[in-house]
Amino acid sequence: MRNDLKCKDCFDLLMDYLEDNLDSETQKKLDQHFAACPPCLNFLESYRDCSKMAQQLRDQQVEIPKELENRLKTFLREQM
Ligand SMILES: [Zn+2]
Repeated sequence: MRNDLKCKDCFDLLMDYLEDNLDSETQKKLDQHFAACPPCLNFLESYRDCSKMAQQLRDQQVEIPKELENRLKTFLREQM
């Protein structure tokens, strides 16, 4: 049985990998793949940055300006 993962498998598992949802066996296989496959490692790094950024945005709890919200509501009412 072949032990190594394909690049596609890595992408499929990436989310779980970053959220620590994988069993240690699979996690180790991914680590090995990333160590041997620079493109995947790059992807992992940029993906990690992205999700960090998204997290920060969520933490800041960006609010919709009141005016925009009102305009949106008016718009929705008009559509109904
Ligand atoms: Zn790869």
